[in-house]
Amino acid sequence: MGHLKKSFVLGHVQPSTATVSINGSTVAVYRTGSFAAVIPFSTGSFAIVARMDSDGFSTETVRNIFVSEISTSVPAPLPDPKLLTSARTVTVEVSTAEAILKTGPSVGSDTMAYDLFLPEGVRMRSQGSQNGEIRLKLSESEIFWGDERHFKVLPDSAPLPAAILGNIRSQNRDRSFVMYLDLSDRIPFRAEPSTDLMSLKIRLYSTVANVDRVRLDTSGKESFGDEIRWSQPAGDIAEVLCRVKKKIWAYELRYEGGRLACEIFFVPGTGKFGKPLAGTVMAVDAGHSPQAGDGAVSPQGFTEGDVNFQVSECLKTKLEGMGAQVFMTREKGEAVSLPERVRRSAKAGADLLVSVHANAVPDGSDPLARKGYSVFYFHPMSLSLARAVHGAFPKQTGMEDDGLSYGNLAVCRSPRFPAILVETGYLIRPDEEELLIDRAFQCRAADGIARGIAEFVRTYR
Ligand SMILES: [Zn+2]
Repeated sequence: MGHLKKSFVLGHVQPSTATVSINGSTVAVYRTGSFAAVIPFSTGSFAIVARMDSDGFSTETVRNIFVSEISTSVPAPLPDPKLLTSARTVTVEVSTAEAILKTGPSVGSDTMAYDLFLPEGVRMRSQGSQNGEIRLKLSESEIFWGDERHFKVLPDSAPLPAAILGNIRSQNRDRSFVMYLDLSDRIPFRAEPSTDLMSLKIRLYSTVANVDRVRLDTSGKESFGDEIRWSQPAGDIAEVLCRVKKKIWAYELRYEGGRLACEIFFVPGTGKFGKPLAGTVMAVDAGHSPQAGDGAVSPQGFTEGDVNFQVSECLKTKLEGMGAQVFMTREKGEAVSLPERVRRSAKAGADLLVSVHANAVPDGSDPLARKGYSVFYFHPMSLSLARAVHGAFPKQTGMEDDGLSYGNLAVCRSPRFPAILVETGYLIRPDEEELLIDRAFQCRAADGIARGIAEFVRTYR
């Protein structure tokens, strides 16, 4: 393992009245027989000796590990600004299903924040690169970085990306409003909902507006659009602002031929027949898999993937009871990548995604320093969902509050549905392990999540 001066040791003994010592120091044993303790490490070959004494009987377990000497990794040097700005400008195109644009180049283990997510075929300018990452120049003042494996460099003869924004049309659908922006090139875009979720602003890079007509659709069962406005805030940036009459639930931007379709979704389902989630599709994502090394492990050896799945099964039942149709992102024993979980949910027509997890702490930390549940969100549309679940969870479970946080998490990043990640508790703490492996508690946790979701949907109606 890496260079650590101390770290935690988890384990389990029977009977739980036994005395346990690790490398000579006595550790506290919880009533279930589980223990979690921090012990000092030394570098090189290192033995962890766990001894148990009970009624004159004693046994010893030894684990030999190797702890590396002082960390030798040197952070990558920061790019030389002179070198980068003098580099040749080329046109690059997103060559994978999605490319992530980051706020800066990686420095050591810091990857910098993931900020823009662009589909295949989008073209942009690139100037300079370092350590496998390319510097992307979206406008005079906006620089991003991306993994060069997600882009292809176009030949010198390829023109630099430049689009003209033509006319704008719109269309009311059953529960969505679509804006069609005529664009002569597949340029990068950024969508940003307003704080009150009553408008969506779309920034179009390398674009000059030549808008003559903006048509607001007034047909259909419900007229969602209130106003569509355009502006040219900089020579190479055009913006379109769409105000809607109902709160934005989710949105999606996609290129369709020579236009960018911006679809804004509103609250799904009907909430009829006393079922608050009637007519909705809920994606339940049981975090990780039961495979070793994927997710947290409890002192008794229960894997996070299994615990998450049990809570998720119960959550499925609760949500179905509220009228929802539930889509599970994985089978019981299956290992599924994070982007695949999101893709499957979108394909299943999910209106909302909740990812169920149980927490751990990183190597070298004290496993008993933190406790309780926490909720993470990424998009502004998901904040009130996170807040509703964060409020409902302790009422059903009595768990302590470990926070409500923004998290740049892959399962929460699709704007196509509100999405949150719930850490139901710390699986590595003996006291919370006891709860998390208990079926009755798992269903109370699921109940807390389901009630929060129903409350969130109710506020939209
Ligand atoms: Zn997890």
